[in-house]
Amino acid sequence: MSSSNLPAERSCGSGNRLETETRCPAIIARSEHGISRKQMSPNALRILYRLKDNGFVGYLVGGCVRDLLLGREPKDFDLVTNATPNQVKRLFRNCRLVGRRFRLAHLHFQNEIIEVATFRSLAADERESEPEEAAGAGQRQRHPRMLKDEDGMILRDNVYGTPAEDALRRDFTVNSLAYTIADFSIIDYTGGLADLKACIIRTIGDPAVRFQEDPVRMLRAVRFAAQLGFTIERNTRTALTAAADTIVRAAPARLYEEMLKLFLSGEGVRCYELLRQTGLFGALFPVFSDWLCAESEGFPHTRFGEMLNHVDCRIQQGDVVSPPLLLALLFGDYIDQKAERFRCQGLPWQQSVNAAVAEFMGETCPIVMIANRVGIALRDIISQQTRLKKIPGRRPETFIARHDFNDILDYCRITCGNKKELAARLDWWTAQALQPAPVPLPAEQTEKTGTPERKKRRRRRRNPHPKSGAKGV
Ligand code: ATP
Ligand code: MG
Repeated sequence: MSSSNLPAERSCGSGNRLETETRCPAIIARSEHGISRKQMSPNALRILYRLKDNGFVGYLVGGCVRDLLLGREPKDFDLVTNATPNQVKRLFRNCRLVGRRFRLAHLHFQNEIIEVATFRSLAADERESEPEEAAGAGQRQRHPRMLKDEDGMILRDNVYGTPAEDALRRDFTVNSLAYTIADFSIIDYTGGLADLKACIIRTIGDPAVRFQEDPVRMLRAVRFAAQLGFTIERNTRTALTAAADTIVRAAPARLYEEMLKLFLSGEGVRCYELLRQTGLFGALFPVFSDWLCAESEGFPHTRFGEMLNHVDCRIQQGDVVSPPLLLALLFGDYIDQKAERFRCQGLPWQQSVNAAVAEFMGETCPIVMIANRVGIALRDIISQQTRLKKIPGRRPETFIARHDFNDILDYCRITCGNKKELAARLDWWTAQALQPAPVPLPAEQTEKTGTPERKKRRRRRRNPHPKSGAKGV
């Protein structure tokens, strides 16, 4: 970790309570930290200056300040302001308001979208709504802006707040730092800078309460610890381990998004270790987790680790791994084993894979909601790999033109191990895909099949009334 942008001294005490509405923040002056405007998105800076010129307060917040201080390149630049979403919209023509419950302003630029949020608070709903909203609402009853369920999980939090309240409603101290262009200082309400220097992930406030409010924060703690090489602070970790089973209360679609972020972070192996140690993995994937642990001689465990390691290497090299390919690499062996079971029951291979993927989706989706289209893409990767084992096969050019050809090829190559003959065929497919002209078959294949020229087949007429059109997933 490069810590060149961190100030030399601890500039503030480590705060961990939510009672600090009136607390003065620690201010880290421009001369004490190494963050420069050159490292920031010019669009984000433009927004901050326009807000300031129009009399509003605007800060860079969250992950981008954390990453800039650590000398890492921020993934995105998030802004907060005291301007309401409608006021932001009036200032920027490229602004679109999104979210029905949390009104956020998205500012669209050629190559990025910058999110501008209004300062929010965790406090109960006592504030006035925006004049425009109140007028629009007419006689309609106004919904509460802050709503928790009986277990303390936040269902809605859209109460405007002060900069201090906004910092304190964030998840971890290291994610609550703000940068202002008013004097280029960093504002720290929670002791985030001290934790950043000590490489600690610590919730703001009581960790048990914060994980109860939003169980997804547990996965975020794991991801930041793994990605940044930080440790999870002792109380935070104890509360996380105790609450791990409650992760299933989070929305399944959110858990899927977080799962992708964890395993595509480039530190998937470390994420997996932490998920296992804390009990989160077993809670997220109960059936699969049992399968991983039950198999003899640790085979699936080792294999799962190898696949994650492979994904990490690719991400670290700057390659993209698509969600279906990730799922195929992580769950392919498990699905293969299910498919084998169906095959032994007499189903043909393709239908066995369909049934296996459908069973896997049925087990997984109630907790981690894999979108149906991703499930279909996963099924195709697993079932289509058999086509790569024959060369040239039927209509190779049509196969190569498939949008998921590279995923199928990658999956087959990564999972084929030391099978030399298969590797040679995969090389042929790779070359075929890269070359505009047909690539000659490997010698052993030419001997067997002669020339790749095939007799033109008569196309079969489609049955206009198929008995079953279902495709599995
Ligand atoms: P990265 O973008 O690198 O994954 P990040 O910290 O920027 O990390 P985002 O998801 O972009 O993460 O969120 C931006 C900021 O919003 C966070 O830094 C944090 O302050 C706040 N935040 C995000 N999710 C939550 C949450 N579940 N609870 C409280 N605060 C959150
Ligand atoms: Mg971010």
